[in-house]
Amino acid sequence: MIPMVDLKTQYLRLKDEIDRGVAEVLENTAFILGPNVKAFEEEAAAYLGVKHTIGCASGTDALHLALLASGVGPGDEVITSPFTFIATAEAIRYVGATPVFVDIDPKTFNIDPEAIDAAITDKTRSVMPVHLFGQPVDMVRISALCDARGLLLIEDCAQSFGASINGRQSGSLGISAGYSFFPSKNLGCYGDGGLVATSSDEVAAKVRMLRNHGSEIRYYHDVIGYNSRLDEIQAAILRVKLRYIDEFNRERRRVAHSYSRLMADLPVQTPFEDGLGVHVYHQYTLLCDRREAVMDALQKAGISSAVYYPVPLHQQNVFADVCAGLSLPVTESVAARCFSLPIYPELEEADIRRIVEVIHAALNG
Ligand SMILES: *Cc1c(COP(=O)(O)O)cnc(C)c1O
Repeated sequence: MIPMVDLKTQYLRLKDEIDRGVAEVLENTAFILGPNVKAFEEEAAAYLGVKHTIGCASGTDALHLALLASGVGPGDEVITSPFTFIATAEAIRYVGATPVFVDIDPKTFNIDPEAIDAAITDKTRSVMPVHLFGQPVDMVRISALCDARGLLLIEDCAQSFGASINGRQSGSLGISAGYSFFPSKNLGCYGDGGLVATSSDEVAAKVRMLRNHGSEIRYYHDVIGYNSRLDEIQAAILRVKLRYIDEFNRERRRVAHSYSRLMADLPVQTPFEDGLGVHVYHQYTLLCDRREAVMDALQKAGISSAVYYPVPLHQQNVFADVCAGLSLPVTESVAARCFSLPIYPELEEADIRRIVEVIHAALNG
């Protein structure tokens, strides 16, 4: 079976370094907010080109704390994409704000900047774009729009570690950004983990307090906070993987470009690249009118495939109260036709060719 993602092969490649890092933590016993969390935060900030990063317990928490610390709260509207994982909108709800879903671009599958503009009201406080599947959003237009309208730009970078736009990292353009290190993400640890990135001293100080029970000085509490710290063992693993992230992302791009080249003559829409942004292919996602037939054929051939995401957020029961009657035709059409193929840095060309042969046979044969 060719899996969607192969974490074992990657672990074996890095085994010596990762085992050594984990063993050091066990020896040192500084398990909570120890030296690896601090070092990883510095290394990640340098990589991303931001002033601060703050490790926390998950990507969902990173978005929640980023929203809270950036000042989004009850009564505020946050414009976001309906074509994303639920956590984007959960975080908006956690702070008491209302998610406002607008349509996406049919080529990039990311939030449509014109739709953002049209949805702004007196209550709009923030825009939360998602760099979905590793495809960077059009940050030039979106950040200009947020600046002009006085809106807080908070990026969901859970799928885009290392993706860039005009040479700037995703996550470095707004007031704050949230990253996830869920194991299958393009930068993943071996459990849950997340990170807030910001160049604001004020937001950074607030997130640092909020992730650690609202406390700056031990046993003195200024606000009600949370227990949401990045684990020291996970930080040790992430420090190793961060050194390889550019190589991993390059290999993902190699896989994606092979797929796209081999499928150029098929009735499918392969991922879009505009030449300005660097897509890091957290997922390789296509559109096809005969998705079910292709996925069936792949399964019979021992090849995994998956639909991210079959039900857009504006059609989820949990958002029925804010989305009654809302129709977002591009999102609905994409959700009905999209599917994703296996992608990971170690996926070999021979496997890619075999996968594409099965798709060819399903569509032509
Ligand atoms: C994975 C993901 C999250 C949440 O991250 P967790 O670490 O699983 O909490 C948020 N947004 C998007 C787009 C994601 O893919």
